[in-house]
Amino acid sequence: MAQAQPIPINRHPYADGGKKKMLIDGQWIDATSGKTFETHNPATGELLATVAEGDKPDIDKAVAAARRAFEGPWSKFTPFERQNLLLRFADLVERHFDELSTLDTLDMGAPLSRTRGGRLRVLGMLRFYAGQATSIHGETIENSLPGEIFSYTLKEPVGVVGAIIPWNSPLTASIWKIGPALATGCTVVLKPAEEAPLTPLRLGELALEAGVPPGVINVVPGYGETAGAALAAHPDVDKVAFTGSHLTGQAIVRASAGNLKRVSLELGGKSPDIVFADADIDAAVPGAAMAVFANSGQICSAGTRLFVEQRIYDEFVSKVAEFGKGLKVGNGLDPEVQIGPLVSQEQLTRVTSYFEVGQKEGASAVVGGSRLTEGKLDKGYFVPPTVFANVRDEMRIAQEEIFGPVISAISFDDPEELAKRANATNFGLGSGVWTRDVSKAHKFAKAIRAGSVWVNCYQAMDPAVPFGGYKMSGYGRESGIQHVEEYLNVKAVWIKTA
Ligand code: ADP
Repeated sequence: MAQAQPIPINRHPYADGGKKKMLIDGQWIDATSGKTFETHNPATGELLATVAEGDKPDIDKAVAAARRAFEGPWSKFTPFERQNLLLRFADLVERHFDELSTLDTLDMGAPLSRTRGGRLRVLGMLRFYAGQATSIHGETIENSLPGEIFSYTLKEPVGVVGAIIPWNSPLTASIWKIGPALATGCTVVLKPAEEAPLTPLRLGELALEAGVPPGVINVVPGYGETAGAALAAHPDVDKVAFTGSHLTGQAIVRASAGNLKRVSLELGGKSPDIVFADADIDAAVPGAAMAVFANSGQICSAGTRLFVEQRIYDEFVSKVAEFGKGLKVGNGLDPEVQIGPLVSQEQLTRVTSYFEVGQKEGASAVVGGSRLTEGKLDKGYFVPPTVFANVRDEMRIAQEEIFGPVISAISFDDPEELAKRANATNFGLGSGVWTRDVSKAHKFAKAIRAGSVWVNCYQAMDPAVPFGGYKMSGYGRESGIQHVEEYLNVKAVWIKTA
């Protein structure tokens, strides 16, 4: 596949300060209200685009279009045709990958080193779902009824899916919803986050170009309390697939009660990352640091509660702090930058408020701990990698999700109590264990109540391996064959043959 030309980064064709419409039924239209909102580059404050602001009437239109599409010619697409469509879409995303990843960088701040680095994962996801389209199958089941009754199951698409995504990885999050929907024959109304709507809208254009029929993918940007809430409550939406905070997840579950629609939730975390004294320290230091500092800590499975065995605690924490200090913070368009800005003023206020909370609680910031404003950084929402030492389990900085590049380092000396302490959180998304002892690794992999356990690595992800939460980190899985099941209904068929 030919590579696209590199985009001149100060003149991105899709972030040129112009106006963006919403995609409903294959058409690009204004909001019913005529309203718009602005989206800015969090590194510089510059205006990237003015975007049509969807609300309930627009969600109503989009859901109606998605329903018509679900019942129309799309329902006649064979698995093979859906597979081909996904492969064509994947090829287009590949051809435009530099453009799409730059758009993520501009709209939410993550450095190019990260957004471009996601290439294989994003393309792998689309092609994995393409493969899944032709792997959907029911079962024949032996039953114990008298007489001759044959029983089997059919797998059918759940229908119209409301996909509500966050801003921390717009390209990946969009594909994580669109991929399984196209594979199974569902239709989608995608509500991007108000902070970063551009990549999902551009993906909508590429989907049309790939030949996705009108109404199968609709993209309605807008605010959470209006457009998002209308989608979550809509009586003709069959399923909501949500990624975001646990508070919004709770609101979505409440809103779903009206028609008891299916809900899958990928929510927040306060994940434990455990370093034993017998670990390979040279690997564990960058591993534990980037488990939190990557994407400026704006990752739901970040390993923010760093449990370090007492006898290496001081040495390990100072090495992690040193590593953090060495990371280059700045505008993500600079290819050397490793840590971009936070996404918004709201997140900046939230993260810096935790700097104060940590100090007041008696923890000490061994590195970082205040906003960065030197030079051009004063135009963006920059905070440095921060490591709090002397953190105790019950402190707020050890319990609450900060969603910034902030490590809370806690010491332990009793491995028997450790699993209990690591599990003493309402969340259960990710977790890490660093050790050379294979028995310890297995023991903790079993004992930790979280959807992913990474041993001697962190944040490894693959389209074939399920990802999701325990406890208040949500339910349902993304990636893996489990993900496809989330978009399918099971129907039992009985046929009396006697
Ligand atoms: P974050 O704190 O990471 O921004 P949110 O949960 O607030 O996470 O946002 C994730 C997504 O949920 C965004 O698209 C946002 O617009 C949407 N959202 C926020 N509030 C609601 C709500 N009450 N109902 C439905 N969607 C919402």
